[in-house]
Amino acid sequence: MRSLTAEDDVAQIWTEDEIGELNERFRACSTETLLDWATARFGQDIVLTCSFGGPSGMVLLDMVSRLERGTPVVFLDTDLLFPETYALAEAAAQRYGVTIQRQRPALTLAAQDKMEGPRLYERDPDRCCGIRKVAPLAEALRPYQAWISGIRRDQAQSRAATPLIQWNTRHHLLKINPLAFWNDRDVWHYIHTHDVPYNPLLDQGYPSLGCMPCTRPASAQSPRAGRWNGFAKTECGIHV
Ligand code: SF4
Repeated sequence: MRSLTAEDDVAQIWTEDEIGELNERFRACSTETLLDWATARFGQDIVLTCSFGGPSGMVLLDMVSRLERGTPVVFLDTDLLFPETYALAEAAAQRYGVTIQRQRPALTLAAQDKMEGPRLYERDPDRCCGIRKVAPLAEALRPYQAWISGIRRDQAQSRAATPLIQWNTRHHLLKINPLAFWNDRDVWHYIHTHDVPYNPLLDQGYPSLGCMPCTRPASAQSPRAGRWNGFAKTECGIHV
């Protein structure tokens, strides 16, 4: 890694070779080993994002908490999540003794309705996600050099090439996807083995959870099919 210069506002700090070496090194290691390295390497400059919807983020929260490095945790609160999601965020903060930073959009729902008209998600979900998810995430990630995310290759075609470690040009940081090669079975095995709390809606026909207006029950075989029903959209935009 080269040292920071004034140009690094817009430049990549980790080279492709360095990232390639990291991917090779950690592909042969356990997920815990990767998280141990990342949380030690970056200290308070790495953040875990957790949606408290899907189970993957709960696995990572459990693993990171066991490392006891006080890794910051961010929860993107769109103001439109399920009550079960808010309840889980509170319960997890208690259980793991962590302070979870709740990042909210710059616009309240009322302000958004006034500017864009009511129920923007029904007309232009990309714009709604931009306001309520993508922009708040950028704000939340700004202070950090690295980001731990729970995305997995098996979740969607758009995620099928997800590496363990990648440079994120949008946020100018190292994005670490420790569960990239995990599947649903791995996740649930970890959750049951370690008694990790999870969103109860996952047992009620919702294999993938986001905001209430844009989430429907779906089959476990195509979990993202229950998101943005009626639109071609499959990603909220925070992982593209
Ligand atoms: S998931 Fe739906 S309600 Fe939530 S931010 Fe995106 S479009 Fe808006």
